[in-house]
Amino acid sequence: MLFPSTVAGSLPKPSWLAEPNKLWPQWRLQGDELAAGKLDATLLAIKLQEDAGIDIVCDGEQSRQHFVHGFLEFVDGIDFAHKVEMGIRADRYKAMVPVVRGELKLKGRVHQAEARHARAHTARKLKITLPGPMTISDTIADAHYGDKIKMAMAFADLLNKEARALEADGIDVIQFDEPAFNVFMDEVSGWGIDALHRAIDGLTCTTAVHICYGYGIKANIDWKNSLGAEWKQYEKIFPALAKSRINQVSVECINSHVPLRLLSLLDGKDVLVGVIDVASDAIETPEQVAQMIGEVAKVVPKERIVACTNCGMAPMRREIAQAKLMALGQGAALARKKFG
Ligand code: ZN
Repeated sequence: MLFPSTVAGSLPKPSWLAEPNKLWPQWRLQGDELAAGKLDATLLAIKLQEDAGIDIVCDGEQSRQHFVHGFLEFVDGIDFAHKVEMGIRADRYKAMVPVVRGELKLKGRVHQAEARHARAHTARKLKITLPGPMTISDTIADAHYGDKIKMAMAFADLLNKEARALEADGIDVIQFDEPAFNVFMDEVSGWGIDALHRAIDGLTCTTAVHICYGYGIKANIDWKNSLGAEWKQYEKIFPALAKSRINQVSVECINSHVPLRLLSLLDGKDVLVGVIDVASDAIETPEQVAQMIGEVAKVVPKERIVACTNCGMAPMRREIAQAKLMALGQGAALARKKFG
């Protein structure tokens, strides 16, 4: 089937589970109730995607507070009690981050509960996302390894362990989120892709990397406004990604200043094209979604195009995100009719 649809990863959480409209929400349940609530919300996220006609569904990241720290919580060697302020994404914003103080080790499984629960309740292809090694290393302070690359490789080994287990749980697509690739472009071919290869080592399921310009929060919007009329970051990293062993690349497109011609640099890869803007509450029409797919089809082979969101929808209002999901599913179906 041409133009299958999927989401970048996160969806808004129900307000009974966590504070709405926040990137770092506080949970509203505790203990066993929280664990059960996360699974209930996962089921809801799957159902909403199915109803919207999304083909490759995701757990909506309902079980994690944040896309990076949801993983870090399960890693030994990290001090969460004494966070330090650090400029992240090349100082685009400051965040209070935990500190690596010893050898990194997984405490156990990270996403087993939600992955198995989702798998048991949908027949559709299922995707789970993990933070990428470079992005993790840019979101945590190091007081142990003394070398960013060495620490990133240690994280890559842990990601690989969880990814292999997720594959065994029946997950079809494992995606690594690497917004840092768009910031440290020179380091991507230097070691970023090596770290990803370490994270996907031995996997036979589909592998993906998501590289965006960030959620629709003010620091990101200000940054985007400083990037000029044509955003060329992808031009520097796509040739190296095209040569990598990653199967799919998820990119930001609609309402961005990414020149579409750059997508042709991803020769041989499935391209998850962002056809839904997560930085605006304006709901796309199916016609707009189909038109964007049509534009991309001029530079990417049709059979390589997957319709997706620009980024995660975690901080959005829930009803807006649901309407956007519907537009995504309907727009991909319309594109199939028009360009199939
Ligand atoms: Zn993103």
